[in-house]
Amino acid sequence: RQSDVPSLQARGLVRHFGGLRAVDGVDLAVPPGEVTAVIGPNGAGKSTLFHCLAGAQRPDEGRIRLGERDITRLADHRRARLGIARTFQVVSVFPSLTVADNLRVGAENRTGASATARLLGLPDAARGRTRTAVEAALELVGLTELRDVRCGELPTGTLRLVELGRALASRPSVLLLDEPASGLDDTETGRLRVLLRGLADDGLAVLLVEHDMELVFGVADSVHVMAAGRIVASGPPEQVRENEAARAAYLDPVTGD
Ligand code: ADP
Ligand code: MG
Repeated sequence: RQSDVPSLQARGLVRHFGGLRAVDGVDLAVPPGEVTAVIGPNGAGKSTLFHCLAGAQRPDEGRIRLGERDITRLADHRRARLGIARTFQVVSVFPSLTVADNLRVGAENRTGASATARLLGLPDAARGRTRTAVEAALELVGLTELRDVRCGELPTGTLRLVELGRALASRPSVLLLDEPASGLDDTETGRLRVLLRGLADDGLAVLLVEHDMELVFGVADSVHVMAAGRIVASGPPEQVRENEAARAAYLDPVTGD
């Protein structure tokens, strides 16, 4: 799988809301085999950039490519079918469904298992694939034992893992995560760090938008600091930590947001 995972690349991305340039000319590469982190203060434009990459919002300028393919105008569900999976800054799972059923929804996003075939009880080649993907993803996020619990009964930290499991069940090659550690306790965050490292080592391209600096500096291969819509510093974590512009924009004023 390693060699055929394409890079996700943005060039010259701009997205405005009225007069505000929330994303103001961003170049970013999310290569396979790496965790690429974007950090920055509240309002920096991280989520807007994220939405543009995931396909939930269209950039006003610039291009987004997946490998050789231009996906700038591709709708989010079509990006999902190309192997780009995402989570949400605010947890978004189906509360009345069990953990396993939430993951099944994710798996079917990709395999295209036919809901009609299922309703009619017809055989469906994709269903076997779905089942395997769900089992594997449950295992990865450590939720096998909670598989039959309805999500409405679970705490936020666990729901974050359900959401991540749902993304993984689609067997993505690119994984986009908007603040996956918010609501997680230290143990869960530690587990998330190990999981993300493993996924990247396995060849996935992982984008991590995150406030938890311990997680970011503990797992990222490259860190991009965003402020007022622009990337003001980029590099390996140890270098960004020492960077003047990064400190000014984010790292020194520890605002705790
Ligand atoms: P971050 O995720 O870094 O906190 P956002 O991308 O959410 O930043 O926001 C960047 C800027 O764009 C902020 O000033 C925010 O208020 C503004 N913004 C974000 N989404 C919208 C929207 N849908 N309409 C108007 N302004 C928005
Ligand atoms: Mg945000």
